[in-house]
Amino acid sequence: MTNPLLLDWATPHGIAPFADIRAEHFEPAFEQALRQHRAEVEAIAANVASASFDNTIAALDASGRLLTRLEHLFSSLTASATSPALQAAQRALAAPLAAHYSAIHMHGGLFARVDELHGRRQSLELSPEQLRLLERLHLDFVRAGARLAPAYQARYAVIVSRLAELYTRFAQNVLAEESGYQLQLRSEDELAGLPAFVRAAARQAAVDRGLGEGVHVITLSRSLVVPFLSHSARRDLREQAWRAWVGRGDGGQPATDNRAICREILALRAEQARLHGHACYADYALEDTMAQRQPAVQQLLDRVWQPALTAQAREREAVLGAMAAAGATHELQAWDWRYYAEQARRARFALDDAEVKPFFALDRMVAAMFDCAGRLFGLKFSARPDIAGYHPDVKAWEVTHADGRLCGLFVQDNFARPTKRSGAWMNPLRNQSTALGATPIILNNNNFARGAAGEPTLLSFDDVRTLFHEFGHGLHGLLSSVQYERLAGTQVLRDFVELPSQLFEHWMAEPEVLRRFARHWQTDEPLPEALLAKLQAARQFGQGYETLRYTASALVDLAAHALPQAPEDVVAFEQQVLARYGLPAEVGLNHRLTHFQHLFSSAGYAAGYYVYLWAEVLDCDAYEAFVEAGSPFDAATAERLRACIYSSGNSVEPGAAFRAFRGRDPVVEPMLKDRGLLTA
Ligand SMILES: [Zn+2]
Repeated sequence: MTNPLLLDWATPHGIAPFADIRAEHFEPAFEQALRQHRAEVEAIAANVASASFDNTIAALDASGRLLTRLEHLFSSLTASATSPALQAAQRALAAPLAAHYSAIHMHGGLFARVDELHGRRQSLELSPEQLRLLERLHLDFVRAGARLAPAYQARYAVIVSRLAELYTRFAQNVLAEESGYQLQLRSEDELAGLPAFVRAAARQAAVDRGLGEGVHVITLSRSLVVPFLSHSARRDLREQAWRAWVGRGDGGQPATDNRAICREILALRAEQARLHGHACYADYALEDTMAQRQPAVQQLLDRVWQPALTAQAREREAVLGAMAAAGATHELQAWDWRYYAEQARRARFALDDAEVKPFFALDRMVAAMFDCAGRLFGLKFSARPDIAGYHPDVKAWEVTHADGRLCGLFVQDNFARPTKRSGAWMNPLRNQSTALGATPIILNNNNFARGAAGEPTLLSFDDVRTLFHEFGHGLHGLLSSVQYERLAGTQVLRDFVELPSQLFEHWMAEPEVLRRFARHWQTDEPLPEALLAKLQAARQFGQGYETLRYTASALVDLAAHALPQAPEDVVAFEQQVLARYGLPAEVGLNHRLTHFQHLFSSAGYAAGYYVYLWAEVLDCDAYEAFVEAGSPFDAATAERLRACIYSSGNSVEPGAAFRAFRGRDPVVEPMLKDRGLLTA
């Protein structure tokens, strides 16, 4: 039998032939892909001709095609439709893959060529993008240990491989705890307070788990547990759900305890940083960001912390008021906050989630985001029901430019499943590259709770924001227009990567968009103006709480990676940091360390959870450009946005890209204003 992973894929857009692919195909395919990539790289290093941009830098960018294609596919499947066999392959492959890249980056002959070109880069007469690629690849080599002495290189490679194994185990433990948990609700009494949409989603979750009539299930999926915490009148059940949610990985279940894994990861990262001559991992990680140094990050987090504490204290008064009105005499705990905040919000703004949701059917909101992309960037989305994904939930659209040119393929997978990791994310199945003649294939994953059979999936306002957020990343991938793959799409500095995604969220809240697309799924009645006004008025309510939750996680992340050595006990360390900053007990963390996938499922956001706030400074300021232009769809501003931000990938230094769009450096005030923290 031929292995389908090794064939040319004669499919629409060259998307993977998912139906033919089995878990057991991956290990042999990776073996061959690694061999092939090694041979390509050896040939580049052994070239008798002296190093040139084309025979070294462009050649490196073009190498490893089979491997890259496999990695994109494999990481998609293990994240969205995993199985015990895929998980076993993932555990088996993590270390060899890491070792492969270490060997390339520490290849003396290869680095000598890259380094020599880098040394005389100004005299090579390169285009700006070529110069950027050369500098980027050179930095990739250096940051992966190319300059270390051989003895240190050996140790460094061991660290990197071990980290890859630990990341895999961490993620698999979190998934096991999430998919293993269910809070079953079996009586009207246990469903008390839950509006129809929560009941429908909880019933569907029960059906998905093969449970019979009359049973409802609350899982740890955010789109189920958060509405449950906001609406359940059963304080004891809220406490149970809350403890399970925030207790993931913290040792309650010995088989999936992540505490020792966190500690070992932190220890190895500290050692990795020391080998590079840094005092701590945060210094090493931040060197390759816009922020560059810890004080810049700390300053931003400090800037919002006090105003957020003040805002949350005000919100607390409203929450305590709601408790008093309900005759509750117990202490305000973390599992009470959302419930009484929802009551306070309802009382103050006469606004009720259950009243809003019928206007936000998933399909309509998808149509809304496509429409915004059309008006801003001229993109057109045509459904391709003939293209099959890895699961029946997966849908594909062909994307074309205004002039009819093919842009790429957009793929979406919207629903929570036990085989899918939590959260929402974008990942490419193929990156754009003119040099390789590659159009992008971009996948968006969400974890919405599916509506009951025969009914649409209804989103909360927050869910709609998530939908637009991931689509913003998707547009960053789709609109990419660069020569070289390494610079394509979202492969930008990580405190820039959330700019296109968070910026796109602004359009979902535009009255003009809501009026047109937010329509009642049963009556087709548009969102009433009064309800729209209430939504706008209530927007900043709860921002104190939300800002604290987020910022506390970012502070813990930074503190954990600023240590010269791993803490003895990560849970105790987390508590110390929170106590130092005075996080009110009723708030609770956004992500605790033992399930903080941003930090420990890869190095992607390690010492980097701050990037959302950093990018928010950029996105709020960027959106002001549309406000100043007088329309959220101002054509000239949109064209500048496409050219400077969404299509340029990493071909331009991010600060310069922002200045090209905005005409100046970003300022922090629009972000503070947007969160209601300016006057606090
Ligand atoms: Zn994002």
